[in-house]
Amino acid sequence: MELENLKDGSELATFAQAVKKGLGKNQGLFFPKQLPKFDDIDAILAMPFVERSVEILSTLIGDEMPRSQIAGIVERAFAFGAPLAKVTDNIYSLELFHGPTLAFKDFGGRFMAQCLTEISNGDPITILTATSGDTGAAVAHAFHGIDNINVVILYPKGKISELQEKLFTTLGGNIHTVAIEDDFDACQQLVKTAFDDPEVRDGLHLNSANSINISRLVAQVCYYFEAVSQLSAEEREDLVISVPSGNFGNLTAGLIGKVMGLPIKHFVAATNMNDTVPRYLKTGEWQPNDTVATLSNAMDVSNPNNWPRIEAIIEQGYVDKSVISGDKVDEDYTQLAMRQLAQLGYVSEPHAAIAYKALIRKLEEGQTGIFLGTAHPAKFRETVENVLGQPISLPQPLVDCAGKDGLSVELPNDYQALKAHMLKLLG
Ligand SMILES: *Cc1c(COP(=O)(O)O)cnc(C)c1O
Repeated sequence: MELENLKDGSELATFAQAVKKGLGKNQGLFFPKQLPKFDDIDAILAMPFVERSVEILSTLIGDEMPRSQIAGIVERAFAFGAPLAKVTDNIYSLELFHGPTLAFKDFGGRFMAQCLTEISNGDPITILTATSGDTGAAVAHAFHGIDNINVVILYPKGKISELQEKLFTTLGGNIHTVAIEDDFDACQQLVKTAFDDPEVRDGLHLNSANSINISRLVAQVCYYFEAVSQLSAEEREDLVISVPSGNFGNLTAGLIGKVMGLPIKHFVAATNMNDTVPRYLKTGEWQPNDTVATLSNAMDVSNPNNWPRIEAIIEQGYVDKSVISGDKVDEDYTQLAMRQLAQLGYVSEPHAAIAYKALIRKLEEGQTGIFLGTAHPAKFRETVENVLGQPISLPQPLVDCAGKDGLSVELPNDYQALKAHMLKLLG
């Protein structure tokens, strides 16, 4: 796979280099110079999930990684499925929350962890990352128990839900968690400072494993194929997919799936009140507002950092701009959609409910619709119970960690304190 920096086309990278670097020069995103297309999509769709995913990823990554190596990575990463749940006659939820941390980020996070492990070839790496909740859990679980890789996760003390915290602070082993006595921005700043400090960056071989890593994106393409494979031939004829969006990695992966041959007619880019993209699609003007806090907090992003990749897909002529429409769903409609889904017998959480609402506004007679279920409702238990007025039960991974003690160290918002802690722990 040859990739180029979207901000500086003279910077090229192999897949392995792009995975290691994360971002290119000038904070530019890496994107494949060419996207492949399958000749016989029905044959691909007929394959089982893991086998098909190996096929998709070897086609994308190309011969720089042996197929057997990709197969090993996929088998270890994709150890859970992505079922379609029928909600009405022509509407399905693609449930992406059956992994260890109950959100779709497990797919990309686990694939990235396995890729980095293979690429680093036994050399020591320290993953340093800040989280406001979900990403930390996915990264922690994905790297837990991997030799030679240590993970340090910073998070704002007392500012994430107890269950969210328990999901990644109870693992131990190579997962080191630090509760910072400040907010998420302070945590992000500490990470940036560490990357600017050669003693820590080079001494501990830092890697950020952040959300714009190309390995996450290619992994996510696979579950769009899995979604379509579960539909009948008739349902595949006029298909609309609605994606609850924050940083727009998920939608980028869906578009790549379409370019590779998936029969998807239309995508709905569904957002909460942070609606930079829906406004941009209407007016052509990119005008991010201040970020506002909503019930769907994983989508509280006003300057989505994957958008340049979507622009590239459109500019390079792979898909027409008209394939994507944007829609904003406000807080009242989010709650209404959750209640409507519950009446249909489907308990959901705010992110998926936004995608459902945007989907039914768009869907026409005779079409089939899929909305992405990006998180398990129990991950947003309080909101779901408040809105629906009924208790929901905890799935096993949450029950398991709820009873364990958190292992975090608490530190003030002070870089020298963090540095001393990291060097003592890992130096
Ligand atoms: C991260 C996240 C999203 C947003 O996905 P993007 O790829 O950033 O657009 C949506 N829902 C949930 C539950 C998430 O955790």
